[in-house]
Amino acid sequence: MTQNRRAVSAIKNLTELEAAGLASADEVCGLTGVVENFNMRITPHVQSLIKVPDVSNPIYVQYVPSKLELNKTQGELVDPIGDAIHEKVKGVTHRYPDRVLLKPTHTCHVYCRFCFRREKVGKADEALDSAEIKAALDYIRSHPEIWEVILSGGDPLVLSDRRLAKLMDELSKIQHVLVIRIHTRSPVADPSRIGDGLLAALKVRTAVYVVVHVNHVNEISDDVKLAFAKLTDAGIPLLSQSVLLKGVNNSVETLSTLMRELVALRVKPYYLHHLDKAKGTEHFRCSIVEGQRLMQGLRGRLSGLCLPTYMLDIPGGFGKVPIGPTYLQSDNGSTYHVTDFRGEVHGYLDSAAED
Ligand SMILES: *Cc1c(COP(=O)(O)O)cnc(C)c1O
Ligand code: SF4
Repeated sequence: MTQNRRAVSAIKNLTELEAAGLASADEVCGLTGVVENFNMRITPHVQSLIKVPDVSNPIYVQYVPSKLELNKTQGELVDPIGDAIHEKVKGVTHRYPDRVLLKPTHTCHVYCRFCFRREKVGKADEALDSAEIKAALDYIRSHPEIWEVILSGGDPLVLSDRRLAKLMDELSKIQHVLVIRIHTRSPVADPSRIGDGLLAALKVRTAVYVVVHVNHVNEISDDVKLAFAKLTDAGIPLLSQSVLLKGVNNSVETLSTLMRELVALRVKPYYLHHLDKAKGTEHFRCSIVEGQRLMQGLRGRLSGLCLPTYMLDIPGGFGKVPIGPTYLQSDNGSTYHVTDFRGEVHGYLDSAAED
């Protein structure tokens, strides 16, 4: 067995997965159909946190393919959040008036087994070439209502420092774009990516926010802490987004530990996403009732700084909405029942309401 060998390159196919000791020959046979449909990539950093096959390891299940991904469930979609419906030019999704998603690449350092864009990630022809980048920038330039550009993908920090610097520079020259937000898993998937060249590329006049995708406290190794610190020390506010995943983080204890660790590292939890209906992801699904119960368990127990908003992206491209739990109920719009964090109900009279 070679499973304790120090990994030097990413695992990209089943032969390498088996050689790394993360799947037996038998298991590998059962996974052929999975990796034909959905890419696999596991960085050396992530490998160092997995080491041996273990379905109770929250990092293992996020990255190592499972034959459960071949299960088909009614309602699963190729494009669960309707990116394509609002795509204006290639790589630009303009769903909300004041902000756009710009997806310069569909490559990632790692491919998460529950990814909402799993039908697109890792496909070379999805990346924007220089003419397509130019068209995307032209679109943003010609729409003065665009206040914020959100770089997404794929993982935009997969771009080379040079390409990233060029893109940031072009975006920062657009007068009406006041905020550039970057959604990334890089600090967690490959913390060595956060180097001086990258920090220099992100140093533009426009406000830059980085939103890190992280689902479990075990993902936050010492190297990851250092990557976070480099970003915050460079003056970049850090936020986090997590996906609620069965077997990874669906307990009050696990979510509390994650959110507290993030805040202590100067990362503000932003969204907890209800799992999107991507194909072959049902084994990760929690119910909305469970998600609301978990959120209720966090409220009051944790500092308000540690609380993300629990969000659903409505299938079909209708956008994201917070999905509770709700603490306020009323039949008439003036007298309310308000539930406190212990679950006790109190009356509240809204004296400003019209009767
Ligand atoms: C998620 C998303 C955004 C960002 O939404 P926020 O609520 O501002 O975080 C913007 N555009 C699209 C198309 C999205 O899917
Ligand atoms: S890093 Fe993000 S875009 Fe890439 S596979 Fe994971 S969830 Fe999908």
